[in-house]
Amino acid sequence: MPDNAHIEAQLDGPAASPMIDPYGRAISYLRVSVTDRCDFRCVYCMAENMTFLPKKDLLTLEELDRLCSVFIAKGVRKLRLTGGEPLVRKNIMSFIRTLSRHLQSGALEELTLTTNGSQMARFAPELYDCGIRRVNISLDTLQPDRFKAITRWGDFSQVIAGIDAARAAGLAVKINAVALKGMNEDEIEEMMVWAHERGMDLTLIETMPLGDIDGDRTDQYLPLSVVRARLMDRWTLDDIPYKTGGPARYMQVRETGGRLGFITPLTHNFCESCNRVRITCTGTLYMCLGQEDAADLRAPLRMSEGNALLEAAIDEAIGRKPKGHDFIIDRRRNKPAVSRHMSMTGG
Ligand code: SAM
Repeated sequence: MPDNAHIEAQLDGPAASPMIDPYGRAISYLRVSVTDRCDFRCVYCMAENMTFLPKKDLLTLEELDRLCSVFIAKGVRKLRLTGGEPLVRKNIMSFIRTLSRHLQSGALEELTLTTNGSQMARFAPELYDCGIRRVNISLDTLQPDRFKAITRWGDFSQVIAGIDAARAAGLAVKINAVALKGMNEDEIEEMMVWAHERGMDLTLIETMPLGDIDGDRTDQYLPLSVVRARLMDRWTLDDIPYKTGGPARYMQVRETGGRLGFITPLTHNFCESCNRVRITCTGTLYMCLGQEDAADLRAPLRMSEGNALLEAAIDEAIGRKPKGHDFIIDRRRNKPAVSRHMSMTGG
């Protein structure tokens, strides 16, 4: 990494103004999509023949670091790297190591990532060494054949090895599974027991209508209210106030002692407590995952070495953060609510 001393000097200067949106919500959580590329092609996420951005459009890792550092100076306490698949971006570990200085300084409370686990076996010890303590690993099934059908390109045993490596390195692992009608709905209990036996939380996610995919999303949509009702036939689910700074609502499963999270953008909108914004690998700031409105931060970032323009652009954008999304899965429209894919804004 080149010398970022001039930026650090500015960050040591007068405190940048905190980000408070028009509804009084303080923005303290930044999700950063470091690449739109992925080594999997999950059926609900991408078409198989996705066109990715030309590499020249991406922010360099130095630019991403500068952008993240400005957000941290403006009150971000939790930063999640995502993608695409964050661990396939070249030199990602040197980026993470550089960012980890904000953990050491105490400016950042948590640096974490969401990954498909394919590269985890390679990186887990170093991630721990950089101060990462928790990771989310996406896994929608425990059946290798099904895994292939859902991810198209993924290798199940590699992901399981990645999960094992993460745990062995001391990272707390949360498993994220998208609940898919007719695909993994018969496995949810088994996945819950499997995760809880290994001391891992399991979070279920509703499919969101983001980006064109090859199939019809209405065929995949499984409301978590249905899943919850089914689970309650056999398990005792106690609502708990546990929070990780994200949108999941958690329950403790009395019989396993483990935690089960629900992310329900469709059946129960979680916008009122939204503390998040997202940046893409091209420096576009999205104030809401479920709306098209965005702000370009790449131009102000590149326009000057100082951060004043960038900070002004961020403040202006936060002033436009919408009250919430209005996702709807509508069979008649059969169009995504938002045209960009999850891999662009990061899940
Ligand atoms: N590649 C990483 C991974 O697999 O976790 C990070 C990016 S991925 C886009 C983040 C999460 O979003 C994954 O858990 C994935 O299953 C989920 N996801 C992708 N498209 C989705 C959609 N349309 N609705 C709900 N979740 C989605």
